Amino acid sequence: MSTQKNITVVGAGLVGSLVSIYLAKKGHNVSIYERRPDMRKANMVAGRSINLALSDRGWRGLEGVGIADEIKKIAIPMYGRAIHLKDGSSTYQAYGKDNQAIYSVSRGGINMRLMDLAEQQPNISLNFDERCDKLDRKNNELSFFNTATSKSTNIKSDIIFGSDGAFSAVRTQMQLQSDRFDYHQFYIDCGYKELVIPGGANGEYLIEKNCLHIWPRGSFMMIALPNMDGSFTCTLFFQMEGKVSFDALKTKDDVLNFFKQEFPDAVPLMPTLLEDWFTNPTSSLVTVKCKPWVWDEKIALIGDAAHAIVPFYGQGMNCGFEDCVVLNELIDKHGDLNGDCLKEYESLRKPDGDAIADLAIANFIEMRDKTADKIFLLQKKIEAKFSEKYPEKWIPLYSMVTYSPHIRYSEALSNGNKQQAIMDKIMTMPDIESKWDSAEVENEILNLL
Ligand SMILES: Cc1cc2nc3c(=O)[nH]c(=O)nc-3n(C[C@H](O)[C@H](O)[C@H](O)COP(=O)(O)OP(=O)(O)OC[C@H]3O[C@@H](n4cnc5c(N)ncnc54)[C@H](O)[C@@H]3O)c2cc1C
Repeated sequence: MSTQKNITVVGAGLVGSLVSIYLAKKGHNVSIYERRPDMRKANMVAGRSINLALSDRGWRGLEGVGIADEIKKIAIPMYGRAIHLKDGSSTYQAYGKDNQAIYSVSRGGINMRLMDLAEQQPNISLNFDERCDKLDRKNNELSFFNTATSKSTNIKSDIIFGSDGAFSAVRTQMQLQSDRFDYHQFYIDCGYKELVIPGGANGEYLIEKNCLHIWPRGSFMMIALPNMDGSFTCTLFFQMEGKVSFDALKTKDDVLNFFKQEFPDAVPLMPTLLEDWFTNPTSSLVTVKCKPWVWDEKIALIGDAAHAIVPFYGQGMNCGFEDCVVLNELIDKHGDLNGDCLKEYESLRKPDGDAIADLAIANFIEMRDKTADKIFLLQKKIEAKFSEKYPEKWIPLYSMVTYSPHIRYSEALSNGNKQQAIMDKIMTMPDIESKWDSAEVENEILNLL
């Protein structure tokens, strides 16, 4: 039986809210401190709808505290990718077999639902407008500045979780006060901007609803995910600087001409394109790797605070939810949320956080460069056929990451590298285009495995 602890969770984002529910269900007293005002208040809800892809690892995290059904009500299944080519035509690639899907959820929607569910726990308190500024390591005490009242408060706790996102204040404090804190941060050359395809006059979807839409264009791409109201949130991932970049599109004509040239089928569906373009921010994409995640056996990082990754595998939130699942299993294993439990949490999750960070960068290249490439599509066809016949010998990398929560990200990365080495050889076989589904190719893969 776990001894009851007073736990402070910094950040009421997706992971902070979920981990708090897990900890409260174990009988601990949890106080969440969030820098922003309560987003559930009416005046905060309006604004852009940003959505995320939720997949099996994330669902497992929600199921672990019995709230998956609540979230399913606000999730739209996407069974495959619709690839939009420059000539206006499109093709479809199913994500997996047996109607496997990833789910589009509104970021605000799921965050607000998680906060509601957290608040229903009698042993969770939620505090808003409280910005964490300082951590006193010796006393395990955090300082918060209330941005509404300008009051400062110091909170002492048994355990602290830093779930305060990619630019975590808790992590910064650890870094500043540690002698050997590893910290690695890097930006890719692409940033992103959110745009919108609104629903039709009666709220109908103007492009296929149950798909993740991709407009791959080599060095950049646009994607679109469905929302509950018939609209799609589009995200343009694009170079920040250079000849073809955000920086280069200065005027309305520049933007319109660029879209007409690159995304001709989307332009007629985007009546607010120019308004959105000049109103919505251009944001950058960062990867953060750090170590340790756990300090003095009582301060731990979780979610993006421990492992911020680029969004191209749709796994940042899913990975953070999986952190909660693993932590929960370890509390059961150790019989308590103690130092050994936290140490094992770090040693299990750090390699997986690093692996999904690397996989996400690699998938960026795949989505923008290869989803329209004939050889790549052929390779995927060969893999899919082989995997269907020998499911115990070959699970495609995307399926390992997205649909196989029992496979660790680090295993998926290493299996994926082995499979890629095999496919590199297969794709050099003479006449591979004509004999891709022959026994010869199948035998060669078996031989190389
Ligand atoms: C463009 C884009 C698309 C994405 N798409 C996907 C996707 O499809 N699927 C997926 O799984 N992931 C996706 N992600 C990643 C996902 O958004 C993150 O992994 C997820 O939000 C991490 O949750 P978190 O709770 O750790 O951090 P956050 O969601 O960032 O929450 C951190 C919270 O801490 C608060 N906070 C920050 N500093 C302080 C402080 N000093 N004091 C108190 N509170 C503080 C913040 O206000 C915030 O509420 C995407 C990310 C981006 C940028």
